[in-house]
Amino acid sequence: MAEKKESAVEIPVVDFGKFLHGSEEERKACATELVNAYKQYGFAYIVNHGVSKELRESMREQAAKYFALPLEEKMKMDWVSPESNRGYSCIGREVLDMEKSVQDIKEMFEVGKEGEDKFENRWPPEELLPEFKAVSLQYWKACFNLHLEILRAFALELGLPLDFFDKGCGAENNNLRMLHYPATENHTFIRAGPHTDYGTITLLMQDDVGGLEVLGPDGETWIPATPIEDAYVVNCGDLMKRWTNDTFNSNVHRVVCYPGAHLKERYSFAYFCNPNKDTMIECLPNCGEPKYPPIKAFDHLLYKLTHTH
Ligand code: CA
Repeated sequence: MAEKKESAVEIPVVDFGKFLHGSEEERKACATELVNAYKQYGFAYIVNHGVSKELRESMREQAAKYFALPLEEKMKMDWVSPESNRGYSCIGREVLDMEKSVQDIKEMFEVGKEGEDKFENRWPPEELLPEFKAVSLQYWKACFNLHLEILRAFALELGLPLDFFDKGCGAENNNLRMLHYPATENHTFIRAGPHTDYGTITLLMQDDVGGLEVLGPDGETWIPATPIEDAYVVNCGDLMKRWTNDTFNSNVHRVVCYPGAHLKERYSFAYFCNPNKDTMIECLPNCGEPKYPPIKAFDHLLYKLTHTH
């Protein structure tokens, strides 16, 4: 069982309202604070992010209604392939042996860019959940806009044109993953094993159950990313690390199950951001001598998918 430890190191909390609505000085100071957090921890809490409480609550409500549907209804929207990466996954439902259960029982629903030619989002029938699609897409778009603002703060701090990432990451090549961990009698230690994310940044809306931990600067201590009401936990992924020539950290994180936490259900919403597929990822200015050759964003992702696990 994971013991929750007090940690001397804490993940910085950034008031992003200063970037969104502040003076030029406030915008610059906020961008510096944010980038420093990513250089040191690869993680930050972002508050005053502009995604309304009403929308976040609607999203939670709709997800709860979706996951409460009978399994055979959910299976009609079954996740098909990594290329599409859309729809419902029921993972670990069969894992009942406590000795062997290293992954927790959880179910997921993924939403990609709507109106993509090749891959269609999968939606429950309107007569079952009339608002699910509209709320999911509205939430998706709000996260997309916040992600671009965060990247604009990076651009400002790195001395790039403010719209630098709008061009390279504006194709909506992002994914919203809704996660539901049902309450269970089966206690598990690890809900998600130690890993890094692949893309530019990930925006996480977590509930108050907690369990997310981030590897500390010493490479040994796990720092709990204790839920802060209304905050997003935003971390950098491997691609952003490479793009910034390893100046930004793509930090290892995991989700553990604190004592008693398995008895409560848990929802979390991860929004994974990626550049446009053909964006060339080459060392950004002001990040030192390039360590890596340029690579297309899509090839970087393929490399990650085939060289991990
Ligand atoms: Ca992650």
